[in-house]
Amino acid sequence: MYLSDINPDILKSKAVTIFGIGGIGTLVAEMLARVGVGKLILVDKDVVEEENMNRLGFYPEDLGSPKVDVIGNRLRRISELRGPKYAVTIETYLTNIFDFEDIERVISESDCVVSALDCVDARLEVNLYAVKHRKILIDSGASTNGLRGRVTVVKPFEWPCLNCYYSNDSMVEEGLFDDVTCNVSLPTTMALIASLQVDQCLKVLLNRQGVVPLILVNLEEEPQIIVYDKLNRRKDCSFCGY
Ligand SMILES: [Zn+2]
Repeated sequence: MYLSDINPDILKSKAVTIFGIGGIGTLVAEMLARVGVGKLILVDKDVVEEENMNRLGFYPEDLGSPKVDVIGNRLRRISELRGPKYAVTIETYLTNIFDFEDIERVISESDCVVSALDCVDARLEVNLYAVKHRKILIDSGASTNGLRGRVTVVKPFEWPCLNCYYSNDSMVEEGLFDDVTCNVSLPTTMALIASLQVDQCLKVLLNRQGVVPLILVNLEEEPQIIVYDKLNRRKDCSFCGY
């Protein structure tokens, strides 16, 4: 059975929290709303600025408004057109991850957690609670030059968590894992990363085959997508070690 055979009633019953509504998170949120995931919880601390105009999802009239409001309102309008039977419930939180008092509640209420944050510390904070509540976390990131990126799926206590990667210097040095924030945002890379992140999220929600720990994307020369279907977590990881 293929992913296109999705049963809308199953997706309607699912909830996903998305941390980070930037160049990647906006696309993830819109795709999940359009396929009919029943509840989307959006968390972000920023307002739309002029420098965001090179990213998909934001328009000049959005300048100065919180990103969660802009995208939340857009998703509600999309949901209205779907009709009441497949309406999408949208919850938004304008907050820094570290000040977010409801972080454990929204994660524990979610069937899958998506992180599209641009800061390692914030990612590790989300990783901490996803592992604690044994929720599958799908994290993404782009490289400094904007031409490489990755999607990482954390199955707590089974596959490496984000800390397993970030505490592994050799993986960071070999470029398997980004250790810096993306400075150059290219909509090409971001749309590809967002699509792969949503693909993995839908397969998790629908309990389908094809979910993998790590996908690397490289558009520096010939386009490359490298899939890692087996990676071991670190014994000495402070989050998920054994
Ligand atoms: Zn770990």
